[in-house]
Order: sequence, then structure tokens, then C-alpha cells
Amino acid sequence: MKVLKFGGTSVGSAERIKNVAQLVTSRGKNIIVLSAMAGTTNTLVEISDYLYKKNVDGAKETVNSLESKYLSTINELFTTDEYKEKALKEIKACFNYIRSFTKDIFTIFEEKEILAQGELMSTALMNLYLQEKGINSELLPALDYMRTDKNAEPDTNYIKQKLTALLEKHADADIYITQGYICRNAYGEIDNLQRGGSDYSASLIGAAIGADEIEIWTDIDGMHNNDPRFVENTQPVEELHFEEAAELAYFGAKILHPTCVLPAKLNNIPVRLLNTMQPDAKGTVIFNTTSSRKIKAVAAKDNITAIKIKSGRMLLAYGFLRKVFEIFETYQTPIDMIATSEVGVSVTIDNERNLDKIIDDLKKFGTVSVDHNMVIICVVGDLEWQNRGFEAKALDALREIPVRMISYGGSNYNISFLVRKEDKVKALNSLSDHLFKSSDK
Ligand code: ADP
Ligand code: ASP
Ligand code: MG
Repeated sequence: MKVLKFGGTSVGSAERIKNVAQLVTSRGKNIIVLSAMAGTTNTLVEISDYLYKKNVDGAKETVNSLESKYLSTINELFTTDEYKEKALKEIKACFNYIRSFTKDIFTIFEEKEILAQGELMSTALMNLYLQEKGINSELLPALDYMRTDKNAEPDTNYIKQKLTALLEKHADADIYITQGYICRNAYGEIDNLQRGGSDYSASLIGAAIGADEIEIWTDIDGMHNNDPRFVENTQPVEELHFEEAAELAYFGAKILHPTCVLPAKLNNIPVRLLNTMQPDAKGTVIFNTTSSRKIKAVAAKDNITAIKIKSGRMLLAYGFLRKVFEIFETYQTPIDMIATSEVGVSVTIDNERNLDKIIDDLKKFGTVSVDHNMVIICVVGDLEWQNRGFEAKALDALREIPVRMISYGGSNYNISFLVRKEDKVKALNSLSDHLFKSSDK
């Protein structure tokens, strides 16, 4: 059995839902994981924002306009009155539930219940549509098996046990439909796996059932060798190692949520990235081996802050780095990049929430300077240290661009550069020109 996950654009309209239905029914008995229809989660965030601000009119207007989109989708999707009625009943129940929050206090708990409605609606529509077509489709409610523990980590034993039981209970189904993104926390409350988290759901489900493959279907034909939003003529990469994919996803390749890689990697399940609009395109396969001696792809991560701590006391001292890192740990702020010298250390973070406190504490150990609005440019491929020339090529591409930090040697797969936000597009394009367009790429 495989797990096939379809993102928001793939189920973004009645026509797209019909497309996906056709695609999945020709592929046998698998688990289909769906995101909310494109734009829905953003609108649900907007509605919650109005409710936080006690702007009930704003919330109601936004709910009404989202509802009317769903009503026209239903009209277009179903042909029989029976199924139109069934779909209307389900969708109206979701919207009335969202409306019920306009009366009471509004906290993060209510917001999570609202955010869950997007995936509940897209899966309800797909399930009913398949049933209307005569397919024995079974909805597996994610809220009945997807759970996180007290550390907000997936409770993998619980997920496996509950999901296996559900599959056994509905063993005669032709196909299974389930929600991505949504879950319950350790206390049974509705929660989610963070924005873009449907990829994670697919990977956790794949790991729980020991799937043959996890397919992430989206609007592009695989992981491209550079960010298609900023670089023209990017090309799909055919194969990636799990670690290469993890680096790219973490450092900004939006096609894959970074959390998605680990469950697949630990269970040795290949992940295939495919295009719903072009189902025959090869896409990208991610697994435990990779072709060597190649730079595969480049990605960029925005909103990075660089912090430099300079101290005479660092010279020949031990324990200095521990003290510095403990400050970041105290304020629960992960560090992305590190560069050290004899008199100082530079680190980057992507979360400024506790920056002032971090700086205050760091000042006990040295002189501190901060650069905001930076971008990590990450070059991924076979960058094992014995290989010659790859670092030089990447550096050459950035000849005209001021580079604030470089990190190399942390893994066999990555070299990262920290540049200014305004240099990002130029850096990405220049790297494509130097790494992928020359004859000896
Ligand atoms: P979905 O809604 O299906 O989860 P996403 O929007 O999350 O889709 O991811 C697909 C998008 O990722 C593409 O449309 C593309 O613009 C963007 N993207 C960014 N970097 C890359 C890359 N290196 N390769 C492919 N797509 C990328
Ligand atoms: N619908 C959720 C979001 O937009 C989850 C996902 O699409 O992966 O973030
Ligand atoms: Mg996505």
C-alpha cells in the first residue's frame, strides 16, 4: 500500500478534485492524504485573526464569502441531488461550527478547531465524490488516530495502533481518504502539525503502515535544482538522498515540509515528489542512496538574523561556546549556522522573539553585533570533503556578492552562505548559472 498526499492546489477547485479522483482510482488501494483546498487555511487564519480582535462582523463576512466558494464547488462537483444534499449537509455543518465561535471567548484552542475545518471539508468532498462515482471510499478521520505526545512530538505507537485498527475495520474499502495537517494533542484537544504539515502527516502515516512509497503530489514536477519562484528555467532533480532532501526542505525548498523527511528515512520508505497537473512526469525520488559527484540543488531561507559575539576571553578558552549555546537553549531559540574564529563566533537564528534577552545575556561574554534581514543560501549535493572543486565553484558564483558567513563540513551534503536579503535573487541566479549551466555540471 502507498500513501498519496495531495496539496492545496491539487484539490483547489471542483475540476481539480475530479482530476485527483481519477488519478487515485487508477492507482489501486492506497491511503490518500489531502490538504485543505488552496487558500482555505489562509482564510481560516484570517477569520481567527478577526475573532482575536473581536471584530465579529469581519469574521462573519469572511466566513460567508468562503462558504459561498464551497457551495459553488459542490454545485460543480456532484451530479446527483442525493450527493449534493449530503455534501451540503457536511459543509454547512463545518461553517456553522466556525460561526459558533463568533459568540464566545477566543483563544488558541478555538483557533485550532477553526483551522481543522479546511482538511475536514476537502476530505468530505473527495470522499463523497468518489462514492457518487460508485467507489467504495472510506474516510479515516485523522482526529481518531493522529496524535502528538506531551512534547508535541508524534505519538508513533498510538498512531500505528489506531490506524492499523481502522484499516482492519474497513478492510473491504477500495480506497482510503484522510486529512493531512490535523491531529489531537496529548490532552485530546484538536491541534495541527504546523502550516504545510500535510506532508508530515503523509510521512507519519507511511511510517505507521510500513508503506511501499510516500508520494507527495503537488503543482510542480519534483524538487527543482533552484527555487522556481526566483530563478527561470530550473530543472527537476531525479534523485535525492534523504539528507539532501532534508537540507533543501529545511533551507527553503517549499515543495517539501522539512519534518516530512525523518519518518520516511527512519523506515526506509522512498518519497516521490510528483506533479498532479503532469502525472506522467518523472518527478523526484528521495531515498537512501544517491548519485555522487554532483551538486544537486540550491535553496534559500529568508528572515535570518546573524549574531556575532567577539571576546578576547575566547582565545584558548574552553567552555566559551557552551556558555554561548546555553543562552540560546534557555530562550528556546534554535541555531541554524555557526562560524567560529579565535576571537569570536557568529551564529544565525530564524526567530527573533527572544532576541533582546539573548543579546543582553550574550553581552556578559563579549561584544555583540547583530545583522537583520539576512538569507541563508544552501547548496546541496555530494559535498564530501575529499571531493575537489565544488566549494570553489559555489564561491566563484558569489564573487560579486558580499558574504557574511560560510558554513561547510557540518554534513557531507551542504555548504551554506549567509547573504543580505537584497542579494538573494542575484545569488540564486548566479549559482544556477555557475553550477547547472556549464558543460561540466
Ligand atoms: P502544496 O500546496 O502542494 O503542498 P507547496 O506550495 O507547499 O505545495 O509546494 C510547491 C511549491 O514549492 C511550488 O509551486 C514551488 O513554487 C515551490 N518551490 C520552492 N522551491 C522549490 C524547489 N526547489 N523545487 C520545486 N518547487 C519549489
Ligand atoms: N492546509 C494546511 C496549510 O495550508 C496544511 C498543508 O497544506 O499542508 O498549511
Ligand atoms: Mg506544501
